Amino acid sequence: MPNLLLRSLSHITSACLLLLLTACAEAPAQSLAAAADSPSNVSIRPPEPTASAEKISFADWRALLRSDAIAAGIDPALFDRAFAGISPNPDVLVADSSQPEFTRPVWEYLDGAVSQQRIARGRSLMLQHGNTLSRIEARYGVDRQTLVAIWGLESNFGSNIGNHNVIRSLATLAYEGRRQVFWRSQLLAVLQILQHGDISPERLVGSWAGAMGQTQFMPTTYNEHAVDFDGDGRRDLWNSSADALASAAHYLQASGWQKGQPWGYEVRLPKAFDYSMADPEVRRSLAEWTALGVEALAPPARHVTSETKATLMLPAGHRGPAFLLLSNFRSILKYNNSTSYALAIGLLADSLRGGDGVRAAWPREERQLGRSERIELQELLAQNGLEPGPADGIIGANTRKAVRAFQLQQGWPADGYPTQDLLRRLRTRL
Ligand code: CA
Repeated sequence: MPNLLLRSLSHITSACLLLLLTACAEAPAQSLAAAADSPSNVSIRPPEPTASAEKISFADWRALLRSDAIAAGIDPALFDRAFAGISPNPDVLVADSSQPEFTRPVWEYLDGAVSQQRIARGRSLMLQHGNTLSRIEARYGVDRQTLVAIWGLESNFGSNIGNHNVIRSLATLAYEGRRQVFWRSQLLAVLQILQHGDISPERLVGSWAGAMGQTQFMPTTYNEHAVDFDGDGRRDLWNSSADALASAAHYLQASGWQKGQPWGYEVRLPKAFDYSMADPEVRRSLAEWTALGVEALAPPARHVTSETKATLMLPAGHRGPAFLLLSNFRSILKYNNSTSYALAIGLLADSLRGGDGVRAAWPREERQLGRSERIELQELLAQNGLEPGPADGIIGANTRKAVRAFQLQQGWPADGYPTQDLLRRLRTRL
């Protein structure tokens, strides 16, 4: 999956919980995941309480699961075949609980995600799969550049689909991971995929968190949105690029994709701009943004009007590039709930279309706050009465609001973006 930069904390594809940008960038969120392997297309949900009952053995747990699976229509022989030799995988638990101190800043993530090599490979594949992509566009209304961008980031165009035994990973997480109810539903979904005949148990590989195939679908998303586009009767996201690309298109269509609209575009802000408007909760029409002096660097030609709604995003604060985001950006977030991921998909798609990339400079000299510094920041904001939410190191909406409030107190630009300067100022106030 996506490469996540952050492994998140919880993510899950979406994860994660991370809707949050982490301070900076989030990584893809999907979540959970691990750096390079995280799940996607899963919805975010809060952690579930851990069962207070005595822990049962894996064998007893598997027997209970087997009963439930059979009651849900899974063939007993298939269950036994899928679980043959399966034991918990400690590496998966380590990945699930990983909370790295440092994550890459958004510009470094984008350097890797939207590299010249990936753009060249994507263009070549767009030509090679041109007929299939034309049919997918006609069926689902999602452009080929976005689909190839997803393909590139999720599995490096099908070359990195993960090599974990998905049954083992999901059984481990459902047995003793966090969010056991969520993982159990993914496990039952993957058994349904096997029963449907899309893949054999022996070939069922994926990321450590169960994201599968060339577009790294989580099992429940797979069950709901995967399609057989090459007509062989099986939904095979591992071995059929046509199935994988069409499934991604089907999922984006179901996530509200607006045919022909861009995801967003880079803008220039006027001097003395009120940066507090750069917030996911502030949606204005393009006419309103224009009236505020927000200017497109390359005006979008496609399917927008003055009434189209957009939000303003400053992924690296007021010292970095600014983007207006349209509704297709939110559709990409449903695929993988990380703003860095969605931005990478949009920028890679633009590059595949022949765009020049981001024009404004990133504040590359700024050192990102590490996790312990983000926790300290939250604690200090709370001590100043600014209510940033729990000190969990995740920069979510409440923390951004608290940062803005402190910035306003200092007479600084209120972009809600935490920096080393901000942390230092907070430290000296106490
Ligand atoms: Ca197929």
